[in-house]
Amino acid sequence: MDQTGRLTVGCHLSAAKGFAAMGKTATDIDATTFAFFTRNPRGGNAKALDENDVARLREHMHEHGFGTLVAHAPYTLNLCSAKSSVVDFARRAMSEDLERMEYLPGNYYNFHPGSHVGQGADVGIRLICEGLDQVLVPGMQTTVLLETMAGKGSEVGRTFEELERIIEGCKHGDLLGVCLDTCHVWDGGYDVRSDLDGVLDEFDRIIGINRLKALHLNDSKNPRNSHKDRHEKLGEGYLGWDTFEAVVTNPRLRDLPMILETPNKLDGYATEIARLRLFADE
Ligand code: FE
Ligand code: FE
Ligand code: ZN
Repeated sequence: MDQTGRLTVGCHLSAAKGFAAMGKTATDIDATTFAFFTRNPRGGNAKALDENDVARLREHMHEHGFGTLVAHAPYTLNLCSAKSSVVDFARRAMSEDLERMEYLPGNYYNFHPGSHVGQGADVGIRLICEGLDQVLVPGMQTTVLLETMAGKGSEVGRTFEELERIIEGCKHGDLLGVCLDTCHVWDGGYDVRSDLDGVLDEFDRIIGINRLKALHLNDSKNPRNSHKDRHEKLGEGYLGWDTFEAVVTNPRLRDLPMILETPNKLDGYATEIARLRLFADE
């Protein structure tokens, strides 16, 4: 929730037309945050940063009462690959992205912890920690968020225990937080539909609720514990609207930035945002 008492909610937007354009698009659909890929997930290099464009976004965010943004690292990066070239690329890309994020100080940078590709979770966690020790710089103004994963293939970060081990194993764990994806935790086995508070209690016991910095709001095409990761529009999957009403009215969640990553075009996102705001009594 922002200073005006409204939910900080938005969706994933295309960065193709630049930063200021994303801010305007967000406002068009009554969003007060958004997510974007810091570079093309399929491609290599990031576009040169236009400082005027970034300044215009910052001004727009200020004028329209935006909350914290949740940038997304390319999902193709893997800090715990078995190939050192892949690990090196992930470290270099994240370092560059975080340098660029300093032009938008005080926001979040979310990433997928990685896939251990058969090396085992212990090796995966160690590699992720080594990578983060290289890319996190004391004094930086961005908080880096580990995303909770569905447990597809050899993904690390399905359980709260694994996320906690990563945070604990890093030299600069103070710069880390967690982004909880409702589809992923459900697919990963956590019952956010009928026991949201129980799941949050468990998160608090294992990681600490103060580490929870952002939410990805997605319904799921699959039953609990399916380890699939297929997002559905809100209300049209296994979670249902009741789950999302419970999320946006939960005292431990309602103040966090919430990002929709549902299979929608802009008008679909606008409808979902309006419904969430209604649940929150706006
Ligand atoms: Fe993600
Ligand atoms: Fe997500
Ligand atoms: Zn996903």
